[in-house]
Amino acid sequence: MAAEQTFVIVGGGMAGAKAAETLRDEGFDGRIVLVGAEPVRPYERPPLSKDYLRGETEREKVFVHEAGYYAEHDIDLRPSRAASRFDTGSREVVLDDGETLRYDRLLLATGAQPRRLPIPGGELDGVYYLRTVADSDRLRERLDRGGSLVVVGAGWIGSEVAASARQRGLDVTVVEPMSVPLERVLGPEIGAVYRDIHADHGVQMLLGSGVEAFEGGSAVERVRTNDGRTLDCDLVVVGIGVRPSMELGEQAGLAAGVGILVVVLLQTSAEGVFAAGDVAAAQHPFFGERIRVEHWANALEQGPAAARNMLGAGTPYDRIPYFFSDQYDVGMEYAGYAKSWDRVVVRGDTASREFIAFWMAGDRILAGMNVNVWDVTDTIQTLIRERVAIDDRRLSDPDVPLEELAGAGA
Ligand SMILES: Cc1cc2nc3c(=O)[nH]c(=O)nc-3n(C[C@H](O)[C@H](O)[C@H](O)COP(=O)(O)OP(=O)(O)OC[C@H]3O[C@@H](n4cnc5c(N)ncnc54)[C@H](O)[C@@H]3O)c2cc1C
Repeated sequence: MAAEQTFVIVGGGMAGAKAAETLRDEGFDGRIVLVGAEPVRPYERPPLSKDYLRGETEREKVFVHEAGYYAEHDIDLRPSRAASRFDTGSREVVLDDGETLRYDRLLLATGAQPRRLPIPGGELDGVYYLRTVADSDRLRERLDRGGSLVVVGAGWIGSEVAASARQRGLDVTVVEPMSVPLERVLGPEIGAVYRDIHADHGVQMLLGSGVEAFEGGSAVERVRTNDGRTLDCDLVVVGIGVRPSMELGEQAGLAAGVGILVVVLLQTSAEGVFAAGDVAAAQHPFFGERIRVEHWANALEQGPAAARNMLGAGTPYDRIPYFFSDQYDVGMEYAGYAKSWDRVVVRGDTASREFIAFWMAGDRILAGMNVNVWDVTDTIQTLIRERVAIDDRRLSDPDVPLEELAGAGA
């Protein structure tokens, strides 16, 4: 292939690393530069709030590739190096050490970063955010010392940190303004299942409360809530969501909205520039709208899809969004995309914590979540993708195999 070409990938996370791998696997023999702001080679983030945070998994296990992989595949990995700007006219990327790289294709895989809580005391020691392996290392060291933790935000990261900290023996309070954990994604009924799981493990759930200030000397000692409570604590973890890292693309003039806007082929508004992973808001051919997915599987699949399209494959990215979470002994997988729904149908018993929930609109499934039930996500995705008309009674009946619903179309 075109040995003289240079493909630059900005962002050394899952999307960037898998894109580089795919370029080589597809036979691209030009130059690949993978620019990553973090000091370590690409790694996976899911363990950082789970087994790695609890000290159950060694560091070597979290990396996407073996240490020698990049050199062996002639991928010019630049850790501790950020792209400062790029120019879509001259097709040049400027790095933070002043080096200029000319690109034939550019992939933005800059990911996302935690939203900060702009309240008094936000800068005190002992207030943690969790995105990087360095964040997880710092937090794990602090968990080793025990004490009481306040988690601000009962989204996925907050919920997983709460579970890991309880498993490490800390006293944990979760403060969340919504009425149940994960309410925005799961709704009140299934969110309540997670509320009860945490309560059963001894987590104090302060729902419907916001946080107004962190107080203390040099380190946090108390959290003040907006309903007048004061919670003594030794540390705080804030998990209130992420924002896409799209400044680089915006400065270069790329069309942006909830993320860097890309079409079904994952190309941005600039010729030769693509985006994938947490940063990309991709037009989805199946859902007919732009979707930005902040999940591992999306980075895993979209990075390679972008790489293939950088090589001219011309294949639309149409995967059904999928993610997973593990809290205590409760594992789940969620597939689909549901912003609003008219009801939730449950197959199995939520109290037993072995069930599948389906978010429905009319007789169609928008999304399905299997909790401690395995090997069903492919069938759930088929039911969604094929827009199978579903009868609630059969869907909720565990004696009717899901495959039968998918196959019979009713
Ligand atoms: C603690 C934690 C637990 C998670 N658990 C789950 C889970 O259980 N299930 C699930 O589905 N998802 C989970 N996720 C989400 C998942 O990890 C992300 O969706 C995934 O990491 C996105 O990958 P990415 O490559 O798009 O971006 P990122 O992983 O954010 O990587 C982007 C990289 O680009 C770098 N970068 C940014 N700007 C520049 C620049 N200008 N120059 C150079 N480099 C730059 C960043 O430093 C970063 O290293 C979790 C995330 C976290 C933080």
